[in-house]
Amino acid sequence: MSVSLSSENLVNYENIRMTSVCGRQVQQVSLSYLRETLYSIDSNGKKFDGFLHLCKVLSARTSTLNKECSMKIDRNPIQMQPGIRPGTKLGFGCMRLPLLDPSEPGNIDKEQVKRMADLFFERGFSYVDTAYPYHEGASELAVGECVSERFDRKSFLLADKMPVLKIDRTEQYGQIFQEQLSKCRVDYFDYYLLHNLGIDRYPKHNKLGAFEFLKKVKEEGRARFIGFSYHDEAGLLDRILTEHPEIDFVQLQINYLDWDSPVAQSGANYEVCRKHGKPVVVMEPVKGGTLASLPPAAEKLFRDFYLGKGYKEDQIPSPASLAIRFAASLPNVMMVLSGMSALSQMEDNSSFIQDFVPVSDEELALIGEIRKITQSSIAVACTSCRYCMEVCPRDIHIPAYFGLLNLYAMTGKKTGMYYHRYKEGYGLASECVRCGRCEKNCPQHLPIRDKLEEFAALYETKQ
Ligand code: SF4
Ligand code: SF4
Repeated sequence: MSVSLSSENLVNYENIRMTSVCGRQVQQVSLSYLRETLYSIDSNGKKFDGFLHLCKVLSARTSTLNKECSMKIDRNPIQMQPGIRPGTKLGFGCMRLPLLDPSEPGNIDKEQVKRMADLFFERGFSYVDTAYPYHEGASELAVGECVSERFDRKSFLLADKMPVLKIDRTEQYGQIFQEQLSKCRVDYFDYYLLHNLGIDRYPKHNKLGAFEFLKKVKEEGRARFIGFSYHDEAGLLDRILTEHPEIDFVQLQINYLDWDSPVAQSGANYEVCRKHGKPVVVMEPVKGGTLASLPPAAEKLFRDFYLGKGYKEDQIPSPASLAIRFAASLPNVMMVLSGMSALSQMEDNSSFIQDFVPVSDEELALIGEIRKITQSSIAVACTSCRYCMEVCPRDIHIPAYFGLLNLYAMTGKKTGMYYHRYKEGYGLASECVRCGRCEKNCPQHLPIRDKLEEFAALYETKQ
């Protein structure tokens, strides 16, 4: 699978030093940032013909600089959705805020959150992301107190999400939306999403009128842009975006480890959004912290790479910064959310995104090596070709279950949400009758029956 590509030289073309862009002091900003900022001020583009011409010239140069490498980033951006003006690509994710008592998710350290928000805005960022269930409902309240009450409403962008899991009746959309506005102390959201769509939720909420509700609040000016967050297969995402072209943007789980994972399908989902021209907000760029602390062999490779580039010990960037820069370098990504839990994390994340430099080809090659090391611990060498499924009398979703088994081997974590979705409409692993037809059809000659038993023991027994 090819992601799209970059050229190291492009870094030099993409970063332009300016002292002032439209009244804001900006130094060393990326080309995409400039374009977004300028569009935000003059959406018809006439005033900035010269700049747009420069963009075209640089885009043309990009394509001639492209060359093959294992992971590629296509530098040619699609047109941003008119009016979507992210400013910069770091979003303040409010799902893991600092706590006064670690055993109480609702007991948020609001004084620290205020200091984090101060720094975030001081450094020129603007996108704040919350949701109904975060911190058992206390995240929205903290946003209201620490952000909305303390800053001019027009100076920040606020994203919130409809908890579709809680909804069974059409009138609940409006009731919960109103409750969210009041908890966040605002009278509109900049970005409003249906929270976590997948095969188990889409048909129900499509029927209940969730998309009509989104269109309505947008028309009323109570939500400026509408979208949904998504964790499921690329085929379903393609169907949703085809059936609902009114959607402005999509929030996806994207990180370099999940890029070609048959479970999260980061790359395939990203490509679907590109095809439909929908900007992407990234969640889990560090894969819940997994990419912040690498396996020892990968860690050594990482350190040697930067030492070889002349970095001193105390200048070596964090592995988390490489993961976030990978996501932010994808041209169709408008925002990368980072769930920051301390002022120090805010300082770190905002510093390297503020001076954002896209990942170079050499760093992409490094990422490829890190992926190889991490993936060498995989449990089953399944390629997701699905030939086994063609002959299985129990219709067991073998490649999906093997993807989950590999994820567990790499991270030590189970993921109930994906399991729940991938078994929907398929047989359970424990329903295998050991007929062996799948193994005869498997080009990788995998011991499918034994591995399904292993999977059933992991996922079907209560632990
Ligand atoms: S052995 Fe199990 S998984 Fe394989 S084809 Fe038969 S029932 Fe399906
Ligand atoms: S046939 Fe083998 S390689 Fe292909 S999806 Fe099934 S288990 Fe995986």
